[in-house]
Amino acid sequence: MTERLYYTDSYLREFRAQVVDRSEDGRTIYLDRTAFYPTSGGQPFDVGTIHDALIVEVVDEDDRVAHRVAKAVEADDVACAVDWNRRFDHMQQHTGQHLLSAVFEELFALHTVSFHLGADSATIDVEGGAVEPRKVIEAERRVNELVFANLPVQVTFEDARDVKGLRKPSDRDGTLRIVSIADLDRSACGGTHVRSTGEIGPVLLRKLEKIRQSVRVEFVCGGRALRRARADFEALSKIGQLFSASLDEAPAMVAAQLDSARAGERARRKVELDLAAYRGKELYRETAPAADGVRRVIERLERGNLEDLRAVAQNFTAQPKSVFLAVMKDPPSVLLAASEDAGIDAGMALKAAVTEAGGRGGGNARVAQGSVTEQAALEKVVEKILG
Ligand SMILES: [Zn+2]
Repeated sequence: MTERLYYTDSYLREFRAQVVDRSEDGRTIYLDRTAFYPTSGGQPFDVGTIHDALIVEVVDEDDRVAHRVAKAVEADDVACAVDWNRRFDHMQQHTGQHLLSAVFEELFALHTVSFHLGADSATIDVEGGAVEPRKVIEAERRVNELVFANLPVQVTFEDARDVKGLRKPSDRDGTLRIVSIADLDRSACGGTHVRSTGEIGPVLLRKLEKIRQSVRVEFVCGGRALRRARADFEALSKIGQLFSASLDEAPAMVAAQLDSARAGERARRKVELDLAAYRGKELYRETAPAADGVRRVIERLERGNLEDLRAVAQNFTAQPKSVFLAVMKDPPSVLLAASEDAGIDAGMALKAAVTEAGGRGGGNARVAQGSVTEQAALEKVVEKILG
């Protein structure tokens, strides 16, 4: 059975231990005592070194703690060092979680049902009601107030039968490890915590995400909150610079620019339609009628979008006795429009021509569009339609 030194001292960073067991390849080590935290209760494992080997994972095997190392350890009496930056970060987030869960309970009777500590942020899932923005703001204010009060965080060992006042009942028996924050919160927990709330540092609540009947609340504490605030500032500053505005004016400036971009887009579309109408009429005037009195025009495009010609085609065929055919090479496709009195049904004519050429397409009597698989087939389609 491994003695877990972190149960009684979360601040222990260096210790000596005896190797009591190891795997055949020497890459899994069991110690008589360890300060390395194994993944459990939502908190990830510690890293660090055992003798001269880096730790890659620490696994809780109930009675024992398994340390997986990057290379075999042959010594039996080993010096060990916990990567303190990672550990202290976990202590800040984890203790912050206890405090935040206690505050949600205290203010809004929202119960924490799970906790996850990720690489960049941590989350709790809460149940018992909606989490509106005002609750987030109120919880954030309260949790930071308790940080500033620098309340003691204590660990006690209590018999499961006698234990009282836990935020969340424990289903374990025997001796429970109880983590208490002043008289605010008592939780059965095996994780690592700071010794007073001041060490949690600032707590920032971030994203909310609805997940079935619970709400996932993202938060960052201490060093993470600082880094996050710095990154937010840099991002907002860049936006501000782009708009020559101060940080606080940036959202209003962005909104105004978006409005103006949308208005510009509407104006552009209108100009395009006006231009298409003009081109359609101009083309009609320039095209001489054939012997049957019908004006036929064919527009050829190398590549692009036939849709761009649709408005021109419709304006052309808005006038009597007219047929408009657009042909594009890449991808090989055709657009056909016809006036009501042109003596041709655009949809039927186009469908027949492209189908015969191994392609597909269709439309209504006035306008239709289709495609063929290869360029060589395009001229057959043109011939079939215009005769
Ligand atoms: Zn805990």
